[in-house]
Amino acid sequence: MTEGILVVGGGFAGFWAALAAKRVAGNRALVTLVSREPVLEMRPRLYEANPEQLGIDLRPLLEKAGVAFRQGEAAAIDVERRGVILSAGERIGFHRLVVATGSQMRRPPVSGAEAAFSIDTISEAMAFDRRLQEIAQAGGNPSIAIVGAGFTGIELALELRDRLALHAGEALAERARIVLLDRADAVGPELGSGPRATIEAALAAARVELRLSATITGLDPRRITLADGDPMDVDAVVVATGMQAAPFAAQVPGERDGLGRVVVDSALRAPAAPDIFVTGDSAAADTGNGHRALQSCQHALQLGRFAGENAARDLLGMPMVPYTQLRYVTCLDLGRSGAVLTQGWERAVTQAGLETKALKQRINRTVIYPPQDVPGDVLMALSSIDPTQQQRPAS
Ligand SMILES: Cc1cc2nc3c(=O)[nH]c(=O)nc-3n(C[C@H](O)[C@H](O)[C@H](O)COP(=O)(O)OP(=O)(O)OC[C@H]3O[C@@H](n4cnc5c(N)ncnc54)[C@H](O)[C@@H]3O)c2cc1C
Repeated sequence: MTEGILVVGGGFAGFWAALAAKRVAGNRALVTLVSREPVLEMRPRLYEANPEQLGIDLRPLLEKAGVAFRQGEAAAIDVERRGVILSAGERIGFHRLVVATGSQMRRPPVSGAEAAFSIDTISEAMAFDRRLQEIAQAGGNPSIAIVGAGFTGIELALELRDRLALHAGEALAERARIVLLDRADAVGPELGSGPRATIEAALAAARVELRLSATITGLDPRRITLADGDPMDVDAVVVATGMQAAPFAAQVPGERDGLGRVVVDSALRAPAAPDIFVTGDSAAADTGNGHRALQSCQHALQLGRFAGENAARDLLGMPMVPYTQLRYVTCLDLGRSGAVLTQGWERAVTQAGLETKALKQRINRTVIYPPQDVPGDVLMALSSIDPTQQQRPAS
């Protein structure tokens, strides 16, 4: 019988996990990727214009790599009998399972939050873009509120004038009122104090109105109700209030962290279910240097490779390799003010301004994309866990 490695979730982590597992196992195991759609959604870019263009068809890449694809929604894990049950009722057996179902936005627990716009998936970002277009075409003095002044909320707020200008010209974009609210008393609370002054300067230059220490008690499609102060009437409300592990991770037995992520060992295995590996935004993993991996694309790309590598190694009786994440950088888009780059876990700013925008665009448009036009062996080599082997060939 052929051994089977099943990867659930076709995001950044799942795609590279499937390729890494296939690279290690070769013909000794059948590697299958199950996901809702055969599409890799470029979530880090969903604050940008034209979100409908931000999906990559994974099928040609998986075919090149020799990985099978099954479309479906995974509903449950039969841990004892080693199978995943799809919502359509089908059961797929496995010898090793990699759970890579990622994350989803955590909406604020207030009435009306479910109906607010968001940019967590391509379809949600497209719905917001359609509303933006309606608002722009209606003319007048548009107003848009973003709830959550973290990474995503800041990038969206600073992109909005350009996006309105695309739909209805510069004059309307300049008249727009853009409000960024957060219950915290500072912007980018999770980004620390390092880049804060740079972010604040960019928000001020873009005339984004900041409402900090704001406790929201209700969200209607056109109105924000605040615990203190008058309600705010706007043309659209977007929520960007942080992420949590997607619900499928709850199927894996064992400990969870505050974000619903499965606490994994150094090989990214679920300690309570040794045939199951968990990766990407669903895994609470130690980076090997005393930090917990973040729900970020940068970490998911490497977590995925390690989980796939280790699932195959374990299956074949080879020693597993502890996950490590050598470098940590953040690059935040600041709209017309360029971008800011920080290095290390203390997030010291090393570069900011218009010249940093080119780096952000390179990350968003090239670095996080799987290369489309390389031969199968080159694609497989890029699934190496060794960062020095992950350099894509110059195009
Ligand atoms: C607007 C926005 C901006 C961001 N900006 C940045 C940034 O600048 N830098 C950065 O590093 N990170 C950024 N991130 C975070 C980054 O996108 C995530 O950390 C990354 O996508 C995680 O990858 P993943 O593979 O773990 O999960 P995901 O990308 O979430 O992929 C999970 C996949 O699993 C599928 N799936 C889920 N459940 C099931 C199921 N039950 N059955 C079948 N399939 C399922 C999903 O449809 C999806 O295809 C941003 C995210 C957003 C939303």
